[in-house]
Amino acid sequence: MNAQSNHPSNDTTDPQFLGPEAGQQAGGGQARELGDMRTILQAALTQPGVMNQAYRAFHNYSIGNQMLAALQLLGKGLPLAPIASFNAWREKGRFVKKGEKALSLFMPISVKRRADKDAPADSAEAGEGGTFSLFMLRPNWFSLNQTEGDEFTAESVTPAWDAVTAMAALDIVEEPFRQLLGNRLGYASARTIGISPLNPLKHKTRFHEMAHVVLGHTAIADMQDDETLTRQIEEAEAEGVAYLLCALLDLPGQAESRFYIQGWLHGCSLPEKSAKRIFGAADRIMKAGQPAQH
Ligand SMILES: [Zn+2]
Repeated sequence: MNAQSNHPSNDTTDPQFLGPEAGQQAGGGQARELGDMRTILQAALTQPGVMNQAYRAFHNYSIGNQMLAALQLLGKGLPLAPIASFNAWREKGRFVKKGEKALSLFMPISVKRRADKDAPADSAEAGEGGTFSLFMLRPNWFSLNQTEGDEFTAESVTPAWDAVTAMAALDIVEEPFRQLLGNRLGYASARTIGISPLNPLKHKTRFHEMAHVVLGHTAIADMQDDETLTRQIEEAEAEGVAYLLCALLDLPGQAESRFYIQGWLHGCSLPEKSAKRIFGAADRIMKAGQPAQH
């Protein structure tokens, strides 16, 4: 956490805070590395419309996988159409066309823990019997357009999200705004959030404050209001979640969000771990706010 590790940034329009490894790599022909969550986050920040389209096509998948599928299909020049495994298509009476290459998505892979080794830091929570889940890219999916056979009608789902449902599911309470010192638009403390009635983008701030709670930032009592790197990263993480949800739900505030993320990071790069946390929290908040099924 020293200042030397920060990447200078002099361009305020590109999300360079994701670091030089994300997206274009200097001198590299194969610029984008699949599976780097910062690359996916960068794509989400620079192509906001894709998130909303990807949700409509792939709503059953995690937000990271939705973007991964969308980027690979767009890279192949294919439309965002339903995806399924080879066998799942066969069950629908469709067959993968000759020569089609599979799309890769993250899959939880169960790994046995070795007695002498701890689980890697980025693995999911430990499972039963000394195993843990690791998310690995697996080339198992094909889009409708890579298959042929029986007629198949694509289902498109319009993204919807309900704040009351989400907060109940996540055990978060929104209290009447308490006027505190300064010009705050919102706050989060333990599992309580407050949104200023004067806030012009209440929905964005609500996502942001909920993200602080979901990411565990408010679990530590008396969060210091200093400008440490930790605080910068936490604010960038919370706003990253707010951005993803605004883009996914096609809500206003996306440009403000990009500006805010950049401001908090002062040109330092966001760690890969944070990019993963941003997608994970956005997933949890999105799922928690799904209106009841009829
Ligand atoms: Zn914040």
